[in-house]
Amino acid sequence: MLSDNQFVRFQRQICLEEIGEGGQKKLKDSTVLIIGCGGLGCAASLYLASAGIGKLVLVDDDLIEISNLHRQIAYLDSDQGVSKVDALSKRLSAINPQIDIRLVKKRMSEEQMQLETMMADIVLDCCDNMPSRQQINRVCHKQNKTLISASAIGWQGQFSVFDFSEISTVGGCFHCLFPFDNIESEKRCVDSGVMGPVVGILGNYQALAAIQKLSMNKVYFDSNQLHLFDGLNLRWQSFSRSKVNHCLVCGVTSNEVRG
Ligand SMILES: [Zn+2]
Repeated sequence: MLSDNQFVRFQRQICLEEIGEGGQKKLKDSTVLIIGCGGLGCAASLYLASAGIGKLVLVDDDLIEISNLHRQIAYLDSDQGVSKVDALSKRLSAINPQIDIRLVKKRMSEEQMQLETMMADIVLDCCDNMPSRQQINRVCHKQNKTLISASAIGWQGQFSVFDFSEISTVGGCFHCLFPFDNIESEKRCVDSGVMGPVVGILGNYQALAAIQKLSMNKVYFDSNQLHLFDGLNLRWQSFSRSKVNHCLVCGVTSNEVRG
């Protein structure tokens, strides 16, 4: 049941015929796990909190540095040295005090990630390193949860939805696309430039896909696609993803047992 205050707050969203009051109630009853509170996590969580997601779980072990501020738009100059999850929680609550926010101030073990994923309706991979991305993919696949993944570096971004809640997984998983824990390229990424609005665009795509998936009976996008964004020529390209039969996570020879 929506309160009068909630009805007024979300009226421009509720009057979208694909959402309606029923969709808004579904958002209110939803839990989203956001792993990583950098540029992607800031952008996605600002929109998800504003949209009325009932519960957000924010995961990050970092403190805010001055070099984060050009792209991690939830943080203020005065937040330097503060924990990212603390500052982000404060900002999201200021926008929408009615949402419930829980914080995890550390890198999760596999067991804790299993538990948090089990309690969430959707998982957003907003992290900045390949080993964590592979771990999130493994856990979401095992628990049949929808994983919304994005990354951005330089002027480029990529976005994919892995809907492990569907029986058909013709599009495979994150490991089918990137079958490695590439530490070397990760080190290069840390030193590389990145354009703030490109990160914001990708984070907003994550929020948009999550809102659709959580609130609507029908999803209008194809979740078996890899979307690439080029911030220099302002173009998106989309490619169909395919399951790799020998994938260690989702392939036919995988030892994984889905929950
Ligand atoms: Zn796979």
